Amino acid sequence: MNLSLIVPVYNEQDNLPLLFEAIYKVMTPLNQAWEVILVDDGSQDKSLSVLQKYAQTDSSHIRVISFRRNFGQTAAIAAGLDYAQGATIVLLDADMQNDPADIPMMLAKLDEGYDLVSGWRKSRKDNAITRNFPSMIANWIISRVTGVHLHDYGCTLKAYRRDVLEGFRLYGEMHRFIPVYASSVGAKITEMQVNHYPRRFGKTKYGLERTAKVVLDLFTVKFLVAFSSKPIYLFGGTGGALMIASTIMMAYLFFRRLFFFVSVTGSPLFQVSAMLFTLGFQSMLMGLIAELLVRTYHESQRKPTYTVRTMINLDQDPRD
Ligand code: UDP
Ligand code: MG
Repeated sequence: MNLSLIVPVYNEQDNLPLLFEAIYKVMTPLNQAWEVILVDDGSQDKSLSVLQKYAQTDSSHIRVISFRRNFGQTAAIAAGLDYAQGATIVLLDADMQNDPADIPMMLAKLDEGYDLVSGWRKSRKDNAITRNFPSMIANWIISRVTGVHLHDYGCTLKAYRRDVLEGFRLYGEMHRFIPVYASSVGAKITEMQVNHYPRRFGKTKYGLERTAKVVLDLFTVKFLVAFSSKPIYLFGGTGGALMIASTIMMAYLFFRRLFFFVSVTGSPLFQVSAMLFTLGFQSMLMGLIAELLVRTYHESQRKPTYTVRTMINLDQDPRD
């Protein structure tokens, strides 16, 4: 299998026929083995029966997974990834806001040697106040914090080489952070402008609250990517800084006591200093616990702390 398309579907009954039409129009001339995995995320409308109908007529290309209830777009994407067989994976929305016609140019870009091609909805057709503007800010923050510079994390339409997705689990709203993870394992990433259309049928499932969730997820992602194999650097660093601040305060108090005869314990600085020292010490200890957890995490899954692009004259798995 060369190519797997993954499409999360939640209450999109009227969009699906258009989507299938567009997908066939693009995939047929490509002349390669492809599949589309549609994940019905517990739709309450007729989406599932529409999907069943298409799956029956074309069992060689169309695969359907149907959730028992609504688990969210990220879970739907995760399920699609679990079952996808293609060496290349393309994610897109079911509502025809993304344009399947953009897929061939993204695949061509992958062929140039990139591992991930991210779609950029330069002229995005969503609500300017509740979606586009907050998302612009969120994209800016994510780029700054992660150092992975993309204009549009939220665009579902992205193409991936399968191996950069290996070993990554998706939680919360995290599918948009796949590029951050991919970059942390050394993927070559680029972005391309893609088409974007207003929704014709059905309505959006998201509003302003989504941006808030995304920013919270950013904390987790940043922590996991930057410190997951060395948590003591974060906890120990914070702890160390607090303890140094505490020591400086204490030194100042003793200096005042010696030369100006001001009581040490009478000053509020004394309490603050004692508190900072305790916090700092606690933080160091937490770092040690986190180090234990990291070892359990990597060793229980036999997960190496590195990722390999290619090997020459080596084929055995070092763990066997
Ligand atoms: N979606 C999903 N589960 C959800 C919400 C959305 O599978 O709980 C799907 C939805 O059917 C669509 C895609 O995710 O294919 C993007 O959703 P939507 O168009 O509502 O988001 P927007 O384009 O407004 O960001
Ligand atoms: Mg949409």
